[in-house]
Amino acid sequence: METVAPFKEVIEEIKEASGEAFRFCFQCGLCDTVCPWNRVRQFSIRKIIREATFGLTEIEGEDIWRCTTCGRCPDRCPRGVKQVEVGMSLRRIASEYEVFPASVKSARTARASLISEGNPLQFDRNKRGDWAKDLGVKPFTKDMEALYFVGCYLSFDPRMKKIATATANILKKARVNFGILGAKESCCGESIRKIGSEDVFQSLAKENIKTFIDNGVKKIIVSSPHCYHTFKNEYPEFMVNFEVVHITQYLSELIETGRLELSGEFGKKVTYHDPCYLGRHNKIYDEPRNVLKAVSGLELVEMADWGKDSLCCGGGGGRIWMDTPKEERFSDLRLVQAKKAGAKVLATACPYCITNFEESMLNLEYDDVLEVKDITEIIQEMI
Ligand code: SF4
Repeated sequence: METVAPFKEVIEEIKEASGEAFRFCFQCGLCDTVCPWNRVRQFSIRKIIREATFGLTEIEGEDIWRCTTCGRCPDRCPRGVKQVEVGMSLRRIASEYEVFPASVKSARTARASLISEGNPLQFDRNKRGDWAKDLGVKPFTKDMEALYFVGCYLSFDPRMKKIATATANILKKARVNFGILGAKESCCGESIRKIGSEDVFQSLAKENIKTFIDNGVKKIIVSSPHCYHTFKNEYPEFMVNFEVVHITQYLSELIETGRLELSGEFGKKVTYHDPCYLGRHNKIYDEPRNVLKAVSGLELVEMADWGKDSLCCGGGGGRIWMDTPKEERFSDLRLVQAKKAGAKVLATACPYCITNFEESMLNLEYDDVLEVKDITEIIQEMI
């Protein structure tokens, strides 16, 4: 089936996003061998790119929405093809022509909520700081050591609010002079950009950048690898550079310098899942493990597909807002891997990963088998 968008427009969009490299693909298929989709169903980003070069891309189909932007294929490609960028450019065209398959409907709800409330979860933006009300967390002022940028899921989602609370408790224990922006904080815009709504991303980014500058922000601590990636690698497109630190990096430093002392025995076998946007996209593999290794009585074991080969949870690239049939969820596979490694706790450091893993805990009825925890939740037990 021919694309509804003119061929020339598709090629120009791809070129603008990824240069000429898409033409260099020699069909070796290595990208298909590492793509997590091929563990649950057939899917080929190679085929999508090939069809795009012949003007045959089906932007009205489901396939252009599948990529989770996990980053495994560009890592493996010998020809420098930028698969993630090509995929995003096709989504931009589909968004422009308002061509969406059924599975993307909920992502459109998230988009509308981002425009009206600055978060994808349809919560009132004025309640963004409510999670911190009884915790004695201060509003950010420019004399403070760092801004804690909480992010949408940790601000509103009941499960994720526990991680925001753990983070605040740890920072307070280490006597870090930090504050939050509360209702002045907006979504970083990472995921909406990945589903092709460039205009919404630009607007959210500009809003946050203005708020950071107006409030004298220099150093930003984040809980989400998606916020980390966007602030560190995408906001500089707006000619700004803030010091961005992921909470696992910050905890590692606090422990190493003696500002945060841990006590007690954890006494459980833990495996760590590398979130795609912390590991592969930003090469942060050691600090989360260093934090876990600093916990007395915690035995760290690696499961299959760890480090740079980490198996995606399925939540990146805006997929966190899309419907994925139960039998196609990568997060189920990850839980099975954690169990096989003998772990009693699956630890990670990303709200999307935790959301998907908690869902899989229900699917697989793993309640007696495994616990899913953010690293901050483990550290909170040790202070
Ligand atoms: Fe083409 Fe690169 Fe995939 Fe090989 S790995 S098929 S060159 S996109």
